[in-house]
Amino acid sequence: SAQRLGGNQGLRFRPALNVESVPDLGLLNDLRTALTSGDQLELHYQPQHRLGDGELVGAEALLRWRHPQQGMIPPDAFIGLAERHGLMASLGSWVISQAAAQLAHWHSPELTELPVWINISAMQLFQGNLESTLSSALHRHGLPAYRLGVELTESVLLDERAGDIVGRLQGLRRSGHPVALDDFGTGYSSLGYLKHLPVDKLKLDRAFVQALPEDPADVAIVDAVVSMASGLGLQVIAEGVESREQRDHLLQAGCQLAQGYFYAAPMPAEEFERYGAQLVAHKRTDLSGSMAMY
Ligand code: C2E
Ligand code: MG
Ligand code: MG
Ligand code: MG
Repeated sequence: SAQRLGGNQGLRFRPALNVESVPDLGLLNDLRTALTSGDQLELHYQPQHRLGDGELVGAEALLRWRHPQQGMIPPDAFIGLAERHGLMASLGSWVISQAAAQLAHWHSPELTELPVWINISAMQLFQGNLESTLSSALHRHGLPAYRLGVELTESVLLDERAGDIVGRLQGLRRSGHPVALDDFGTGYSSLGYLKHLPVDKLKLDRAFVQALPEDPADVAIVDAVVSMASGLGLQVIAEGVESREQRDHLLQAGCQLAQGYFYAAPMPAEEFERYGAQLVAHKRTDLSGSMAMY
């Protein structure tokens, strides 16, 4: 965006009105309203599974905006807008408090230790108060830090404002938050950088998963990422797993974790709670011990 090219080392995202079209400005006003009214925004949760035994190991929180006239608006359609117009800090804080409140609200035993992963934008990371926003939200509900994981996209590493990104990520991890590098493989960051990057997981972008197992290039890329990650002591979670064939290939390639429509699409919080309970019920009734569902 114009902002990024500006070389501004400061942390304020000044509005660049010239690049916004009239309908976008309307949307921007609506987003301001949504942030103050509070009842148009929701988090949906997508389950994350261990490939080997199908165990539910986490959930990714994904922002949804139920616009009163336009219906559901996907995050890609308004997050950039929020960043350009200084709304990302409040939007990001809303996501953090909402996720923490939800964690506290899930009482079913299968969810009481589950981590929820939130997506954070570059700006939230560089602002400096991310850690305290996270810890105060968790504190309010008496929750430990490991319950909120942080996903940041690989492109953040290339952001020129990413001065002390290593220090910031270290801080997050020292406080107990797991950190994942999102959309891995699409950001053109150097592999040498990974060596020094304090992250726990790589989220293999769904672009590499889509054509598995037919596309030999993607097969090679997946193999390479998995073996590199294992050498670096990182877990790999595959995004966008939609078919059994993809799941089987990833499992056999040594990838540990996956999320995608093959398991479930992102869903509202109440539905996610039922999803967790159903998995447990399935396991109890499956006397053979094999995971018939997967
Ligand atoms: P992401 O973090 O990479 O999230 C994964 C996206 O892939 C989600 O789209 C999810 O719904 C979609 N997805 C999951 N499984 C499948 C599948 O099997 N097939 C396909 N085709 N798609 C799948 P969504 O929810 O539209 O989010 C898009 C992006 O918006 C996210 O990409 C993330 O970068 C951003 N985003 C979402 N929520 C937030 C948020 O709270 N804060 C920030 N800063 N960004 C967010
Ligand atoms: Mg993500
Ligand atoms: Mg992703
Ligand atoms: Mg993405």
